[in-house]
Amino acid sequence: MLTKQNIIAEAKRLKFADIGFTDAQPFVSQKEYLLAHQEEYGWAEAVGLGLLAGTDPKNILPNAKSIIVLLESYFEEAFPLKMERNFGRCYLDDDRVTKDGLSLKIKAFRKFLRENGVDSKVPFNLPHRLSAARAGLGTFGNNCVFYARRVARGSSFVFPIAIVIDAEYPRDEPDIAIGCPQWCRNACVAACPTRALKGGGKIDPRRCISFLTYYGEGLTPLELREPMGMYVYGCDRCQNVCPRNTPWMSGEKPQNPRVLAKATDFDLSCLLHMDKPYFEKKIWPHMFYMSADDLWRWKMNAARAMGNSLNPVYVADLIRTFKENSDERVKSMIAWALGRIGNKEAMAGLEKFSQDSKGIVKEEIEQAIKSSAAKL
Ligand code: SF4
Ligand code: SF4
Repeated sequence: MLTKQNIIAEAKRLKFADIGFTDAQPFVSQKEYLLAHQEEYGWAEAVGLGLLAGTDPKNILPNAKSIIVLLESYFEEAFPLKMERNFGRCYLDDDRVTKDGLSLKIKAFRKFLRENGVDSKVPFNLPHRLSAARAGLGTFGNNCVFYARRVARGSSFVFPIAIVIDAEYPRDEPDIAIGCPQWCRNACVAACPTRALKGGGKIDPRRCISFLTYYGEGLTPLELREPMGMYVYGCDRCQNVCPRNTPWMSGEKPQNPRVLAKATDFDLSCLLHMDKPYFEKKIWPHMFYMSADDLWRWKMNAARAMGNSLNPVYVADLIRTFKENSDERVKSMIAWALGRIGNKEAMAGLEKFSQDSKGIVKEEIEQAIKSSAAKL
């Protein structure tokens, strides 16, 4: 029979940052919270995330006895700045499709368990962060993110991986609390551009930029376009401003070679012009929450980011894509972006497009011309 010490030693050998144990009792408070906030989380059930089912480990493994939580420190190496501007860090080296990084470690860990008579499941819908807090691995922040206790200098740049097993081990001391210092005046809440954070560790996920970038429906409403800034997929703003992350963020790190190698593929211009084969080969294997049917959303997000960059270098790309693209949502956002950049070339493009456009696209063009003129 494997001892807890044997399992901890294997986690260390596989270079997981930390490990903790908790029991397989249902997450009652989480279930109650989800049921009471169906308006905010109903979408998650609708897209098949099964969050409610995930609150009982026995729905995942009928003979569940314990949960092992591994911590992966995903920001050990530096990411190219241009990638950090447009994408949440946790998605930059995500191998859930390619299965050539973290997945190999999890596979090896489960093989070790299996070879020693322990059955395991790695559910996607178990409350991972809450499992990690219950296993004593860290605390929450007011930004709803999980912070490590012993590793990554107490930062939030860790993934908890919850593994349900059919063997019983003594649980570690739970610490389900918000661990923010008293003196921090909710910098995260103030910095959240879309007011998704409500304070006290509460969030309206539907207002979070991460959600909006990959699940937002239709043309992004005007009032969210500037606040969403240059993020195309995910958002790290509430983690970047957090003083609990300063020690880890300020340390020197070597470059992450895998992310560096694909950075050019993720240029805003490439995203704006990409076709289905490009998306399926270069983008989807790394960022897969949107399917090829959602190329319009990728392009709309890229156009918004270009507009918010205020960088005239993107005007030619925007004009070309307006001409080549037939999707109203993409064309509308391009009109907005050209108006936001607002140089001579952009305004000339808008005037020209105005003559041949109709409906919502024409309205967006007229609004862009008006707003840009008001700034002069
Ligand atoms: S990830 Fe961005 S949008 Fe979401 S809560 Fe944090 S700051 Fe707000
Ligand atoms: S910014 Fe302040 S309140 Fe927000 S998570 Fe960090 S320490 Fe906590």
